[in-house]
Amino acid sequence: MEACGIFFIDTNIHVIYLICKYITCILHTNCLFFTLREPCKKTSSADKAKILLSSIRKVINSRFPDLFDKFNDLTDRRKRKEYAMAEIITGSLFMYIFKETSRNAYNNNRREEGFRENVLNYFGFNLPHTDTSDDVLRELPPGELEALKAHLASGLIEQKFFRKFRFLNKSYLVAIDATGIASFDHKHCDHCLTKTSKSGVVTYFHYVLEAKLVTSTGLAISLASEFIENQQDRDYEKQDCEQKAFVRLAAKIKKYFPRLPVCILGDGLYPNNTVFDICQKNNWQFIITLKDGNLKTFQQEVALLKATSSKENVYRANKNTRTTLEYEYLNDIEYDRRYFSWVECNETVVNRKDKATSHQRFTYITNVTQNVQNIVRTADSGRLRWKIENEGFNSQKNRGYELEHKFSRVSFIAMQNYYQLLQIAHIINQLVERSKQVVALLAEHSKQTIVDLWRKMTAYLIFSHAQENILTPSLPD
Ligand SMILES: [Zn+2]
Repeated sequence: MEACGIFFIDTNIHVIYLICKYITCILHTNCLFFTLREPCKKTSSADKAKILLSSIRKVINSRFPDLFDKFNDLTDRRKRKEYAMAEIITGSLFMYIFKETSRNAYNNNRREEGFRENVLNYFGFNLPHTDTSDDVLRELPPGELEALKAHLASGLIEQKFFRKFRFLNKSYLVAIDATGIASFDHKHCDHCLTKTSKSGVVTYFHYVLEAKLVTSTGLAISLASEFIENQQDRDYEKQDCEQKAFVRLAAKIKKYFPRLPVCILGDGLYPNNTVFDICQKNNWQFIITLKDGNLKTFQQEVALLKATSSKENVYRANKNTRTTLEYEYLNDIEYDRRYFSWVECNETVVNRKDKATSHQRFTYITNVTQNVQNIVRTADSGRLRWKIENEGFNSQKNRGYELEHKFSRVSFIAMQNYYQLLQIAHIINQLVERSKQVVALLAEHSKQTIVDLWRKMTAYLIFSHAQENILTPSLPD
């Protein structure tokens, strides 16, 4: 009996022991689970806004330390000077940095006392009404802001910001392309281009030819811009106008970046002797799209020699697709007593799931002699030309900068100055969006977007109390 009693007590102790062990194990597992699992970070909206604001300030102070001094050096034709020149220009620049979409939207925010005070506290400048800035931008020679933009881009190049993106460790990839920026149903200024429809309706518009430094990571940094202007009331003819504008644009690139090793990326409008001459004279490389109809004699020789071309195949795969890239090249193909290389890339993409297959062909003419080591880099760099359309024009039209909005309805000079300020703001914001802090915010959850971060920043500037923020003036007196 006694033995049985001991056994009973023992059994109870054993059960309690097991229960305790079980609870400890669950607690331990849970602790371990919470320890091993990365804590879900949730930054408040106000903190997100503050991080974004400090990133903008940091990019300007570290990458463009003389920006505000340079604004003060611009031509000032005002008689009454309520604001410093730097405040006038910075005010318009920040309209684009804040992605305000219109002067009216910016003025509506500016009416809020908190917004003005917060901008003063964060960036150290008083925010003028956009009409005050507009008066100045109508009088400011547009070449001055363009030269300043080139100075800022030069600074980034000197800081070796783009060094790792150079083509064959030598040249900076400079994509060239034109885009429309404004269209009117009436004559806007003496410089408007015109197009007459079949029914006789005349449209007035402005086009600008851009040279942007592009990288494989999606940066598109404006180096120079050339407005395409009307030619004795003739209707706009893309080929003719863009080619003439390229001659002026190339001169600007050479003037602002005299020693920069350049590789020009152009579309099917650019394989012609004018472009080849300019590249030869400036010692620039080029990789230019060759359409089927371009340079007939060159393409005939390619067709004759194609069977002897050198080839290189590359396979790339990710979780969704399998891509086969067949690269092909020929050197020393004659065109008008000059010799260039021909490059082609045939891309086949197979979707892993449904096995759907797509095919694309990319053909280029280049003055870079091809070999097995550089063929892939050459064709891949040629394809970066589309970055000027996507990361360049598309971003500036549709992602908060409103490139096609009429920031000035009457003045061609102001229109050009707004254009240059938009380019400078876009350069600054591209660096901000790639800064460590902002990338970390975007990585917090999959639905966090750049658009949402900017909205939070504007709301914070309007609604937070200025005195809560640290007074850190950035502008000189
Ligand atoms: Zn006009």
